[in-house]
Amino acid sequence: MFKPALQDGHNRSVSYVRISVTDRCNLRCRYCSAPVFAPHSRARILSYEEILRLVKVLVGLGVDKVRLTGGEPLVRRHLDSLIGRLGEIDGINDISLTTNGVLLEKLAATLWSAGLRRVNISLDTLNPERFKQITGRDYFGRVQAGIEAALAVGFNPVKINVVVMRGVNDDELIDFALLTRKYPLHVRFIEYMPIGSASVWNPADMVSGARILEKIATEIADLEPVAAELGGPARLYRLPDGLGKIGVITAMSRHFCASCNRIRVTSDGRLRACLLSDNEFDLRKVLRRGADPERIIAVVRSALAAKSAEHGLSCNAKRKCARVMSTIGG
Ligand code: SAM
Repeated sequence: MFKPALQDGHNRSVSYVRISVTDRCNLRCRYCSAPVFAPHSRARILSYEEILRLVKVLVGLGVDKVRLTGGEPLVRRHLDSLIGRLGEIDGINDISLTTNGVLLEKLAATLWSAGLRRVNISLDTLNPERFKQITGRDYFGRVQAGIEAALAVGFNPVKINVVVMRGVNDDELIDFALLTRKYPLHVRFIEYMPIGSASVWNPADMVSGARILEKIATEIADLEPVAAELGGPARLYRLPDGLGKIGVITAMSRHFCASCNRIRVTSDGRLRACLLSDNEFDLRKVLRRGADPERIIAVVRSALAAKSAEHGLSCNAKRKCARVMSTIGG
């Protein structure tokens, strides 16, 4: 049946919601979590019922794609039950998950049974010692096992997200790229953005997507462009003999705001129409005061009307977004 497209004030259609299910995380990445972190109380976090109610309203507005994120989504209990119930909503065509992979070995089969078919795993280094330095935890082996489990269970695609930080992990671009020769992984290099405790962020820490591609082409082989995924922000390539793909997400050097099709909901129920804007709208209040669909829709429409045409943070921007990424859900 025809559904009226949900549009923002710049005629962009919105069909994709990213929902953070928790602000808690089992890693302490320096650039992603706050130095002193007080997680939300359970009462502040949206319940699964509230999330489902919200998604049903969004589906009525034309949203057909949901990604679950966090914090670390897999630390929230019974996530598989939420996935199963999201899958039962008529109109949802795609459910995905962004995880750090620490608990994936244990949970991959359960998530698959619940109906999840694709997963993004964040991993910034292939070096166990460096992993410990970046994340504050000695869990590299667990993440490795999680990636192997994801491939074995049959998730397709399995994407590896690498935030590239100069002087931290930019000497590993080639090793990451070569993974796509051995495994059917999509390795996506993400430009480091000025978010939250990226108050440690400095323009010089960011390595541009162009530089990343140039280095791979020079040191391994020319990259063949691959068609971009529908609505996805990554520009994709393949090594001539690659099983997987290589992508760059250039939010800073060459942003893709013109094709932005997404909104975000934080674990405490704030709607963010733009990842990099701290302009938030309170959905929890309306969800807890009767959850009247018309009132939910009014909040969504206000957020979209206020959404900027572009995120406005350039590589030299002084302004940063205040929330740390772990409480937004990347
Ligand atoms: N815990 C899950 C994970 O690790 O994938 C989901 C949440 S985490 C906030 C989502 C992603 O945001 C991770 O890939 C993380 O590396 C990325 N991220 C955090 N801070 C960032 C920043 N300043 N710039 C770019 N990516 C960032």
